[in-house]
Amino acid sequence: KLSKRLQTIADRVTPGSRTADIGSDHALLPVYLVQSGRVPSAIAGELNAGPYQAACKAAASAGLTAVISVRQGDGLSVLQPCEADTVTIAGMGGSLMADILEAGRVAGKLEGVRELVLQPNVGEEFVRRWLVRHGWTLTDETVLEEDGRFYEVLHAVLSPSADVENAGLYDPAFLSKLDSESAMWTDWLYRMGPHLLRKPTGILHKKWELEIGKLERILAQMAGSDTPDARAKEAAFRIEIAQIQEVLACTP
Ligand code: SAM
Repeated sequence: KLSKRLQTIADRVTPGSRTADIGSDHALLPVYLVQSGRVPSAIAGELNAGPYQAACKAAASAGLTAVISVRQGDGLSVLQPCEADTVTIAGMGGSLMADILEAGRVAGKLEGVRELVLQPNVGEEFVRRWLVRHGWTLTDETVLEEDGRFYEVLHAVLSPSADVENAGLYDPAFLSKLDSESAMWTDWLYRMGPHLLRKPTGILHKKWELEIGKLERILAQMAGSDTPDARAKEAAFRIEIAQIQEVLACTP
């Protein structure tokens, strides 16, 4: 049985699409996708030798070596053009994920790819920014909690004509409540997720309330240090807390 996190990713993959899972580790996701009949074939890409061996072993012991191709290499370099309809990347930082996507894009490795399912562990904003910048429409976002951690799963489809206005980031109804002229709101849409803010769940609120709690604890630890640097940091944290609260208060 897959973890809730991996199951959420699997459920976002369009049935029937040839899927490449990059940074696949034990190839849990591709094995599940093929075994369950959701996709006909998969590629498991891994940079590191240990996880690559583990992925080879998993595909072999599932009897799926004919339909799961396990490849060792950096990011999307393991793909040939038009080999995959969907790319999944999960369980790494958003900044690394955006670097992998960008290196792949520049090398033409995203040719033919129509769908991305991405689960950054942190730094989701780097992924959203990359998507919007490169003609991908963010179609759906989910936040889930598992074993005391929060995970966001982003789904995007290629829409060559997309620009910032129709890339799934802006929703007129939501934006009308915010000061849409302000760059600050755009930053928070990237950080917190436009779809998550549009349809907020208790988990989204919990995630950001815990974040506020973390910032407040840092502020409490800083109390008493009176250097200009500490004062500047304190002011920045207070603004951050106020902005998170303000954005959450605008949600439906
Ligand atoms: N995707 C799996 C999941 O979500 O459960 C495994 C996540 S694991 C924490 C991250 C994996 O990404 C590791 O196995 C690591 O070796 C691999 N990785 C890191 N950088 C990579 C890169 N540039 N290209 C391919 N794989 C990479």
